[in-house]
Amino acid sequence: MMNDVIFVEERETNESHDEQIYLDIQVKGIIEKYVCARCWGTLIATHAHQYHYLVFCPDCGPGFGFHTRYFAQTKQVYSYWDYVEAFNNLKDVLGLKEKPFDENKALKDLGY
Ligand SMILES: [Zn+2]
Repeated sequence: MMNDVIFVEERETNESHDEQIYLDIQVKGIIEKYVCARCWGTLIATHAHQYHYLVFCPDCGPGFGFHTRYFAQTKQVYSYWDYVEAFNNLKDVLGLKEKPFDENKALKDLGY
């Protein structure tokens, strides 16, 4: 899990425009690779200082850290199959009605 504030080392350069582009690419990569550790939502970044960005979840706010997007997607898949197993084990006891399994809908619900 990562912290919310991204510190980028100050580099010796007189080309501040190139430095800004470098920082933007770094932050964009972090936003694409990580999600909120609390709700697994998409992160956003604000420019906090010349070499600092604050990356956080717009729903939860700063302070909850990040998980990799891969970790969150893997957990969602495992959670879905836990649900299927629990449903099959408890449907008779709880009197649940079984719906036909729709693979396309399940994949769509998981974001694929
Ligand atoms: Zn969140």
